[in-house]
Amino acid sequence: MVNINRVEMPSLDAKVRQTNFNEVATGYTKEDALLEASRCLNCKNPLCVKGCPVNIDIPGFISLLKEDNVNAALAKIKEQSAFPGICGRVCPQEKQCEGKCVRGIKGESVAIGRLERYVADNGTILEEPLITKNNKSVAVVGSGPAGLAFAGEALNKGYDVTIYEALHCSGGVLVYGIPEFRLPKSIVKKEIDSLVKKGAKIINNVLVGKSISLEELKKNNDYVFLGLGAGVPRFMNIPGENLNGVQSANEFLTRVNLMKAYIEEYDTPIKHMNNVVVVGGGNVAMDAARCAKRLGANVSLVYRRSLDEMPARLEEVHHAMEEDINFLTLTNPICINGNEEGNVVSVTCNTMELGEPDASGRRSPIVKEGCDVTINCDTVIMAIGNYPNPVIRNSTDMINFSDKGLIIVNEDNETSYEGIFAGGDITTGAATVILAMGAGKKAASKI
Ligand SMILES: Cc1cc2nc3c(=O)[nH]c(=O)nc-3n(C[C@H](O)[C@H](O)[C@H](O)COP(=O)(O)OP(=O)(O)OC[C@H]3O[C@@H](n4cnc5c(N)ncnc54)[C@H](O)[C@@H]3O)c2cc1C
Ligand code: SF4
Repeated sequence: MVNINRVEMPSLDAKVRQTNFNEVATGYTKEDALLEASRCLNCKNPLCVKGCPVNIDIPGFISLLKEDNVNAALAKIKEQSAFPGICGRVCPQEKQCEGKCVRGIKGESVAIGRLERYVADNGTILEEPLITKNNKSVAVVGSGPAGLAFAGEALNKGYDVTIYEALHCSGGVLVYGIPEFRLPKSIVKKEIDSLVKKGAKIINNVLVGKSISLEELKKNNDYVFLGLGAGVPRFMNIPGENLNGVQSANEFLTRVNLMKAYIEEYDTPIKHMNNVVVVGGGNVAMDAARCAKRLGANVSLVYRRSLDEMPARLEEVHHAMEEDINFLTLTNPICINGNEEGNVVSVTCNTMELGEPDASGRRSPIVKEGCDVTINCDTVIMAIGNYPNPVIRNSTDMINFSDKGLIIVNEDNETSYEGIFAGGDITTGAATVILAMGAGKKAASKI
């Protein structure tokens, strides 16, 4: 008799985990994984595969897992996805593969993401592809998932690969955005180390467009791939945003992630926070709120629509609620208030109600007149979206950009300049890890 409900993911106790940065979801045991795998019906027309942006053969890898052949299951996933240990942890599966799984029609879908993670954490690739060098080279700008996926494919094709990264560490948002308790840095490091082992050269602290030009990179390489991400934070343009204590989620998360602000002996400038208001409803907002909680603050999350419209992953919303983050939905800041020293003391917000769906398909928030609320706080963290960094755009005419500053590419992810490709958030706007990886892989298939 097949289990009706999916096997729960073991996780750290919510009260304990609020006090540390250890990974919250601890992963399936072998028994858990085999039991969950047994729920897959091995459908003839597997809708889950259609829901996966990179079309992983999901019933294929789960069938191998059912036979307890974890290494073969990993090889099957890797045919389509370069970094399953990362995607198994952070992909929005409920909107992708699991959202389409037929088991979800009358009950709970198969926990595909959890199985992917189990396979990635416990499997080993026994046979790496034989690489024959082709005496050609590629330059990859940016070491986020798009750049890393492109680099991996280019290495397999025999290219010399050099990755240029502006920051002192590699991995893009995977290391400076997503916190340790969701995606341990060791998982990302393992993937990057395997690329280096295959021959990739990574040069950190190089801002392409300033330290070296795109023209120069193209002149010295056969192909260039731009995986620049979208790392410049948006603000709301409301009064009080320049007060002390207001910061972007990007800045806050980068300090927490890379400067290890939570370790006391580090001399980092994160101001002590007692009461924090985080503005936004996406993954970035959840991550900022949960980091602030772990630094000892009381945290309120302010979002202008309702829970149903929240773009963050469902699992992260649940985890944040379990961790005593105070959710204030249908609430929208209109003014940040300060004291004579210029420090934040409170945020005044409109109360909202939902109207007709807007262009995004979600019901739009409308102000409820005369229902303002004021929330006392000493810190406000803005997590309302990002846009692309204009450094390369300002330094070259070689490639075309859209009005929003995104790089324009064709269906092969090639830019207007032959031999220069781009992919990930710099071409789509802020999106997901799997879409960025898929774009890097697709571009590499065209070189
Ligand atoms: C806090 C946070 C949480 C998220 N959570 C999730 C999640 O749970 N699931 C999910 O699927 N997605 C999530 N996302 C989105 C996801 O991380 C991104 O869509 C993805 O990382 C985009 O990959 P990328 O390679 O295009 O860019 P990035 O990861 O942004 O990497 C770009 C890299 O390029 C470097 N760079 C930029 N310009 C230059 C230059 N001129 N020279 C040299 N280097 C340069 C940057 O320093 C950076 O390292 C989250 C994003 C954030 C910010
Ligand atoms: S749709 Fe669900 S049950 Fe069917 S093959 Fe995919 S994971 Fe298995």
